[in-house]
Amino acid sequence: MRSVRQLYDLQLLDWDIQNLEEELSDVRAKLADDTARMSARRRLDALEARLQELASPRRQSEHAIQQMEQRASAIEGRLYSGAVTNPRELEAYQDERAMLVRNQRAEEDRLLDLMVEMEDVQERRDEARTTFEKIDVERSGEVSELTSREDALSSELPGLETRRQSISAEYPPNVMAVYETVRRARGGQGAALVDRRGLCQGCRLTIPNAELSRVRSGDGIVQCGSCSRILIYG
Ligand SMILES: [Zn+2]
Repeated sequence: MRSVRQLYDLQLLDWDIQNLEEELSDVRAKLADDTARMSARRRLDALEARLQELASPRRQSEHAIQQMEQRASAIEGRLYSGAVTNPRELEAYQDERAMLVRNQRAEEDRLLDLMVEMEDVQERRDEARTTFEKIDVERSGEVSELTSREDALSSELPGLETRRQSISAEYPPNVMAVYETVRRARGGQGAALVDRRGLCQGCRLTIPNAELSRVRSGDGIVQCGSCSRILIYG
């Protein structure tokens, strides 16, 4: 059987386990958090989609301009061939030609606007792709580091837990009961060292002399009057 005086060994082991569990949960939270990469991906996808959206009106506009050019040159051909002699027909062709020129200019303005917007979106898409690729590479490196850290921590944990089980079985059950209760209530610390001057290391309260000598002798459980931790002379 271990005595109360050795209880601090268990406290140290519990802190090791606690630190390991905290680190493990931190590592797992980081592994699960893919938000930076996902948001860079979404931004890239949105810009790709916008480019796709602009491609179709651009093709339509180019096609419309091409058709107007063809029609205009057909009219030119007719007018300069001398085949059209009827003044009303001649006037109708000239009107249509003038209308084609106006429409073509308007269509060319629309096309120019589209091209300017596409260029801007392309530039932003290229930046977004560079950003995403950078984040993606970083994240892959981070994930592989975190995964090996997770493996190391989770393989270390069972050994510590087994050790804890066998050590805690060596303390008297009443000591363990008090220790566990206080540990749960006091942020993972059930036992605190008390120094020569009688200062509780758990809460900095000074322990009365009579109690300090009981702690020193290791005679039963002495709890701090302030934080309730089991006092260990150290
Ligand atoms: Zn205390």
